Amino acid sequence: MKIYNSLTRKVEEFIPHNKKEVTMYTCGPTVYYYAHIGNLRTYISEDILEKGLNYLGYKVKRCMNITDVGHLTGDSDTGNDKMSVAAKKEKKSVLDIAKFYTNAFYKDMEKLNNKIPDIVSSATDNIDKYIEMIEKLLKDGYAYKSGGNVYFDTSKFPNYYELSGRSRDEMLLAVRDDVEVDEKKKNPFDFGLWFTDSKFNEQQLKWDSPFGVGYPGWHIECSVIAISNLGEYLDIHCGGIDNLFPHHTNEIAQSESYLGHKWCKYWVHMEFLNDKSGKMSKSNGDSKDLNSLIEKGYDPIVYRYFCLQSHYRKTLVYSLEGLDIATNAYNKLKRKINFIKNNRDGEIDDEAIEMYQNMFKDAFSNDMNTSMMLTVLYDVIKSDINNNTKYYLIEDFDKVLSLNLLKDEEVSSEFLDYVNKKIEERNKAKEDKNYKLADEIREELKLQKVIIKDTREGTTFEVLR
Ligand code: AMP
Ligand code: ZN
Repeated sequence: MKIYNSLTRKVEEFIPHNKKEVTMYTCGPTVYYYAHIGNLRTYISEDILEKGLNYLGYKVKRCMNITDVGHLTGDSDTGNDKMSVAAKKEKKSVLDIAKFYTNAFYKDMEKLNNKIPDIVSSATDNIDKYIEMIEKLLKDGYAYKSGGNVYFDTSKFPNYYELSGRSRDEMLLAVRDDVEVDEKKKNPFDFGLWFTDSKFNEQQLKWDSPFGVGYPGWHIECSVIAISNLGEYLDIHCGGIDNLFPHHTNEIAQSESYLGHKWCKYWVHMEFLNDKSGKMSKSNGDSKDLNSLIEKGYDPIVYRYFCLQSHYRKTLVYSLEGLDIATNAYNKLKRKINFIKNNRDGEIDDEAIEMYQNMFKDAFSNDMNTSMMLTVLYDVIKSDINNNTKYYLIEDFDKVLSLNLLKDEEVSSEFLDYVNKKIEERNKAKEDKNYKLADEIREELKLQKVIIKDTREGTTFEVLR
């Protein structure tokens, strides 16, 4: 397995700390709102990484945090706690907001066939452990108290800029608009480990601590949750590319200062999903969540398919036209697979299985090349091997791809009523010579995997499931 490591900026051979068991940490959602489809792209890539490693024979122990405190609107200690802002806006308590959007997150994961990580831990459940880590960092001189807060002293950690690949001055220039001049900090990139008075006018959740009543910084939660659940040596740490600086940079600084040795070996960052206007963000008020796609008639699994067609290290531009193309391609694929499923014949061909499995493994091992993995699937379908062997391989690959390739979805009577109503509307539109509307209805049904045919006997339809 070869994977791009942001730390070395190279595609590297993957060698876990323990030969067969891989530890994997993935930054989870900040649960102040629905995850947008950009967040979900990252979770899909992480899911494929975990399942692909399983496919290669590794046992993966994976942990994810749920951020329900401490993530400020600016990643560099600026602004207010995102959770508090949302609670105020929705006139609910922070814990109610957290519960609601954590559930929504689980539902999205399920709809996308993303496995929930083995361990999921909420930030608010680990307060004692943050305090313990901060105390040690203070004792060892890596942290200092200032103006009621506790800060990490970045000047004490010489490798601070390693992950970013930049020097201190380059970094200062790069982020000059985002870094607030804070009199309390000794160095511009120092970051809060514990806040008491400066940032917490709006803060609902506060805890007692040796440093005063307050709340933890966002970065410390991932270090603590990762180390306490996965041990002192971490194999893989994932997140979206925006997390590389400052979040992951700060995680490395505090974890390695605390542990006294190197912590995580492979840093895997997922590139952004953008829309045509630019970055997609939960906080710019124009986010696109999975339910909004479902309401427009798109299948969440088609969104997964859409993501898998591109490489996780390339920016993916989202558009409804792109999703329409993916819908057509996915439906076509399902139709071909249905044919194979309904015409199973022949003896299992072990040699062919091994050959295609190796091709599939190679595609995954090539820095998680998901589009190449799909190509191998298409190669199997196109090949002249018998249908039983094809069926076996499709089922096998779908353990990683999780595209419901062999699943028969039930068609409910409500859905059939809806289709019949739409067909009546379309017939009426045709009678009225409103062909534009008739075509729109056909397209709307197509998105829901309903293919209509006009025959001499009337309009018939087929539901592709
Ligand atoms: P958050 O809920 O903001 O803490 O983000 C959850 C995950 O989504 C993190 O790994 C982020 O780096 C990632 N992320 C945020 N925005 C995007 C985006 N537009 N495309 C892909 N991943 C993103
Ligand atoms: Zn994190």
